[in-house]
Amino acid sequence: MKYISTRGETGELGFNDVLLAGLARDGGLYIPNKWPQFSLEELKAFAGIDYNDAAFRVMQPFIGEDVPENELRSIIENAYGTFSNKNVAPLVQVGSSEWLLELFRGPTFAFKDVAMQVLARLMDRALQQKGERATIVVATSGDTGGAAIEAFKGRDAIDIFVLHPKGRVSEVQRRQMTTVPDPNVHNIALEGNFDDAQGLVKALFNNSEVRDSLKIAGVNSINWGRIMAQIVYYFSSAVALGAPFRPISYSVPTGNFGDIYAGYVARKMGLPIERLIIATNVNDILARTHETGRYEPLGVVPTSSPSMDIQISSNFERLLFDIGGEIPARIVSLMEELGSKGSFALLDGELLKLREGFSAGRADEEETIDTIKALYEDTGYVADPHTAVGLAVARKTENMNAPIVVLSTAHPAKFPDVVEKAIGKAPDQPLSMTEQATLEERYVVLENDVDALIGFIEENSRVGKAAS
Ligand SMILES: *Cc1c(COP(=O)(O)O)cnc(C)c1O
Repeated sequence: MKYISTRGETGELGFNDVLLAGLARDGGLYIPNKWPQFSLEELKAFAGIDYNDAAFRVMQPFIGEDVPENELRSIIENAYGTFSNKNVAPLVQVGSSEWLLELFRGPTFAFKDVAMQVLARLMDRALQQKGERATIVVATSGDTGGAAIEAFKGRDAIDIFVLHPKGRVSEVQRRQMTTVPDPNVHNIALEGNFDDAQGLVKALFNNSEVRDSLKIAGVNSINWGRIMAQIVYYFSSAVALGAPFRPISYSVPTGNFGDIYAGYVARKMGLPIERLIIATNVNDILARTHETGRYEPLGVVPTSSPSMDIQISSNFERLLFDIGGEIPARIVSLMEELGSKGSFALLDGELLKLREGFSAGRADEEETIDTIKALYEDTGYVADPHTAVGLAVARKTENMNAPIVVLSTAHPAKFPDVVEKAIGKAPDQPLSMTEQATLEERYVVLENDVDALIGFIEENSRVGKAAS
């Protein structure tokens, strides 16, 4: 399998190179140059297999010869051995034709674990093969940092630096990052907000000298390896509910458009998905684009579903490439327009394709709370606020025929205050979360200054230093 950039300037790369690069050198995002196809017979054969086997069948065609099959199988097994439920992504029925797909049974209780556990092992392997080291730098608004640290801690070939905005992540989220004692883990509390943290990381990636000398790699949601691992649970859940004999619909709480884009890819590979619903909170750039055809970031409003408080939806570029007829020049011109005018408009044909492929809707704060409450009263099930956004939007979507699966992206105990407000009591806390509350924390505080960041990374990264 070969990969190309949405902006057309990188030529063709293999899987391992795309994995280690993260963002393409031309500023674009990597995508496969063709989509693997599953026949009806192959889809039927997913019935009754376990999650690890499904993961192997879905991911192998994207990886090809870059990882031998037996090694891929053991990477998958080890990755999902960290999950508390060996079904990895269990389905829970909450209505006559309504299911939640629980993606939060991993070590940090958000769906980011599903992909990050695989990504870390694939990256570590690729680096060991080349005899190289890498420095991972990632900005987090909450869930990504913890998942990345949990997945990359203790790995020989990798040092990880995570920037969180000081005082602006929840206590549970901060402790998940700062109580990990491994020496290759470095936490930075940045004097600033998430956009500042993200801005510093972007500045590092755009500085080719620093990027090359420190071998900086990215693991945020634009890394193809993360998308690939997220395609799997669409297959496993759809087949469990009767695909390919009946189509299934999905409602996906959406921020950076990674999770729902994985569903779009699953459909391109032959899985019969009827509807893909983009569910946003009031930071609704994607719902507005679907409605009006204009992509226009506005200011970010803090909500009870903070992992979706995003206005620049990075993975949307991959979809734009697809609905724009796979023309890199079109992407380059849209991104230039976004940079100079602060928005861009889709052509009629592009908007038509967006609407053919997706439904979209938003849920405000009151609807989110009401949905958690109603679900609890009807079923006793406690959902987190991100999941509630997905459920609220699904329930508002008209003309639904197929069974609907709502992706449940976080454990309710990660957001105890909102849940308590909705149902009058705090959600039960998993043991490992309780234990984290007493462990020692470790982080440094840095000014919002790129040179300070570079200095700290140079001092602590093992890249370029003798192996110890
Ligand atoms: C990251 C995240 C999302 C949004 O996923 P995207 O792939 O960015 O659209 C939704 N819910 C939770 C809990 C998350 O951590």
